[in-house]
Amino acid sequence: MNLVQLQNVSKIYMDKRGEVRALDGVSFSVERGEFVVAQGPSGSGKSTLLLAVGGMVHPTKGQVVVDGKDLYAMSGHDRAKFRAENVGFVFQMFHLVPYLTVIENVLLPSGGETAARTEAEGLLERLGMSSRVRHKPAELSAGERQRTAIARALLNRPKMLLADEPTGNLDPENSAAVMGYLSEFHQDGGTVIVVSHESVAADYAQRVVQLRDGRVHGTT
Ligand code: ADP
Repeated sequence: MNLVQLQNVSKIYMDKRGEVRALDGVSFSVERGEFVVAQGPSGSGKSTLLLAVGGMVHPTKGQVVVDGKDLYAMSGHDRAKFRAENVGFVFQMFHLVPYLTVIENVLLPSGGETAARTEAEGLLERLGMSSRVRHKPAELSAGERQRTAIARALLNRPKMLLADEPTGNLDPENSAAVMGYLSEFHQDGGTVIVVSHESVAADYAQRVVQLRDGRVHGTT
């Protein structure tokens, strides 16, 4: 059964160039437990696609259904709650809070419960970060920052991980490690969507979707 279903989704931005069609009638689905990579050149609509799936970009047209819920028919409040409970995000730029420690960053999506702290410590251990829990992001390598971001994304045990160029700032060794952690989540039954213009991501995918000019151009 599909976890994600996009039905004829378009997103048109207005800027100095006039109308920009970031997504142009995209229909696309992802099965529960699937690992999908969306590839395409810069500007092809990859980030917009991912953000639309994650409930963060309201399409101009079309429908985004996740786990049977029409995301943009919900109130903003309900959508935020749905996102917090179901979706984990990993970004190229990590988006860690610079003045919080590793463990505090990982705990950001929690309500501060003791169980969350135990979960966070367990995740950091699995990600090889036990010796770094009290460090601040500036004291970490890029690979360690991304591992912190992955732990944060996994804290609420999401159904789905959405990753936007997760290896974009990493060397080959750390890229492989990060893709390996996403694979582990997938092997445990999670659904993963990665957008990337790098070929390394495609090695881990069950399906690669090509985007061009805001449209699905092909699938392999
Ligand atoms: P990709 O992730 O493949 O690089 P994006 O989804 O970021 O592509 O962008 C697709 C197109 O939409 C690009 O032309 C980009 O400049 C434009 N775009 C993305 N976000 C915005 C925005 N907030 N305002 C205006 N144009 C945008």
